[in-house]
Amino acid sequence: MSKVKVIPCSGIGKVFGLMARETALKITNELKTGETEILCLGHIVTGDADAKEKIEGHSCITIDGCPRLCSAKNVSLAGGIVKAKYRTVDEMRNHKGVDAGTATALTEDGWKIIDELSEKVCTKVDEILKEDE
Ligand code: SF4
Repeated sequence: MSKVKVIPCSGIGKVFGLMARETALKITNELKTGETEILCLGHIVTGDADAKEKIEGHSCITIDGCPRLCSAKNVSLAGGIVKAKYRTVDEMRNHKGVDAGTATALTEDGWKIIDELSEKVCTKVDEILKEDE
């Protein structure tokens, strides 16, 4: 079984990018270690052969910070099959007025949003793995 690739964007300078990375890390390092694998967007964008081989034709989930969708677009360009794309800015819309933190540190509320988003993504991972069987 091929692991589902989870690729966060590399957003720096705002909380949204940090949220994308922390969500991807939580899923791949804690919640779905056997079924998912995190990949570095930078490697994909620069055309790294190993990264390309890992995503070309494989099921991917992208987690972006904002509507520019840097991860979703570049994964798709590199031949990855983007089965689901998430934007942390959308999660914040469901939590209006909540202080999730800064570009470098999340608040307790910020971590709660990460937990919720991670659960959603994990449900998606299960669906994708069923489809790919
Ligand atoms: S999706 Fe938005 S936050 Fe993420 S790297 Fe691109 S511009 Fe930055």
